Amino acid sequence: MKAMVLSASAPIESSPLILSELPKPDPGPGQIRIRVRVCGVCHTDLHTVEGELELPKLPLVPGHQIVGVVDALGEGVTRFQVGDRVGVPWLHQACGVCDYCLRGDENLCESAQFTGLHVDGGYADYTLAPAPFAYPIPGVFSDAEASPLLCAGIIGYRSLRLSEIQPGQRLGLYGFGASAHIAIQVARHWDCQVYVFTRTESHRQLARELGAAWVGDARDDPGVRLHSSITFAPAGWIVPEALRVLDKGGTLAINAIHMSPIPEMPYHLIYHERTLRSVANSTRQDAEDLLEVAAEIPIRTEVHAFPLEEANQALQALKASRIDGAAALEIDGE
Ligand SMILES: [Zn+2]
Ligand SMILES: [Zn+2]
Repeated sequence: MKAMVLSASAPIESSPLILSELPKPDPGPGQIRIRVRVCGVCHTDLHTVEGELELPKLPLVPGHQIVGVVDALGEGVTRFQVGDRVGVPWLHQACGVCDYCLRGDENLCESAQFTGLHVDGGYADYTLAPAPFAYPIPGVFSDAEASPLLCAGIIGYRSLRLSEIQPGQRLGLYGFGASAHIAIQVARHWDCQVYVFTRTESHRQLARELGAAWVGDARDDPGVRLHSSITFAPAGWIVPEALRVLDKGGTLAINAIHMSPIPEMPYHLIYHERTLRSVANSTRQDAEDLLEVAAEIPIRTEVHAFPLEEANQALQALKASRIDGAAALEIDGE
């Protein structure tokens, strides 16, 4: 099978993903094999390729927003049949027995494995996933439309939850990439007024189309205090700026797996019971909940497709903020 393989981390400008021929993997007990049709391209893939995340496995096939069709079942699989359309997200597997798993925080599992990091992901013709960690894709979405739901959507949804935003409140979104363009639609569905902070004019345009009440720069004052905010940009300097316009008792959730240092800041920015928290990974419940609400709305995703062979170019475009909405690889197969 064809795959885009990373042998050593390097700046994406040097095109470190190499088109390679790999053996088609065989599903082990409890696993399904998926004929990949589309794999979304995520900022985390960029952190993986460029080595900002520690890489437990090399060579590696990245990609963790996988939409495809089950084409083989491992021993004991009853959740899916051959021919079912499924999605595979970032959380590849959690152990189910550590303290975090037992209390329902499998996103924090001590021995969690992540798709396209610990195991080969979806920048390939085929991939494997444990059946309990794959999800049926609602019929209202095409393969490409569904792909950004699987990380950008799920983790954006968890961020909304952890930001404690309530229906009708004012929400700030910092950065307007794949995750935010989905989160805003859930927030609008909840009747929230959404304030979007981004420098990129085309991202501002998309935010307006998706119902933003206000758009501006992270240093601008929207003229109101926000009840909750989420930052999607991996830039630490945004944190004090976001706290500056957060209301008393509000929460700022950081949706980033990697972030530049947060600058020293005066205590008054967090005083009056403001909460600053990070968002890490997601649970199976987050995935089920997001896919359900996404189909109900239905969420409209903006997806720019590249062929598998152009994974480097897709990641370069993402790094340069040239993608409005989300990017994805379309995989033709053998
Ligand atoms: Zn665990
Ligand atoms: Zn991701």
